Amino acid sequence: MPFHAPYICGCGKKVPHGVKCECAIKRKRDYDRYYDARRPTSSQRGYTDKWRAASKAFLAEPGHQTCVSCGKLAMMVDHRIPAKGDMGLFWDKSNWQPMCGRCNRSKNARQEGGFGHPVRTQGGQ
Ligand SMILES: [Zn+2]
Ligand SMILES: [Zn+2]
Repeated sequence: MPFHAPYICGCGKKVPHGVKCECAIKRKRDYDRYYDARRPTSSQRGYTDKWRAASKAFLAEPGHQTCVSCGKLAMMVDHRIPAKGDMGLFWDKSNWQPMCGRCNRSKNARQEGGFGHPVRTQGGQ
């Protein structure tokens, strides 16, 4: 096997042959992080102007003024079954329910484990 001398990386480090320099690994990590940050946000997944208008209309309908969970003034439309990118579920009005911001937040926090994998709530009934 021919002998390969270590090479000097662009960052100035001496790197053994066949080994990736730390700077290359770091660059890859930064790249991945950059693309992670650029993944579609909730607004790009369907929470668009169209959704805002539709949910506003829904909350204006009779019986949709109060939060289904606590009975306070509803601020938003919640999906009974999290749509998770499913546009059919997302726009299915039978899957909508009025909810206040507080209950929506705590519901989302509870569902962090993903649909079908409920997270155990502390002291839940
Ligand atoms: Zn390097
Ligand atoms: Zn509520």
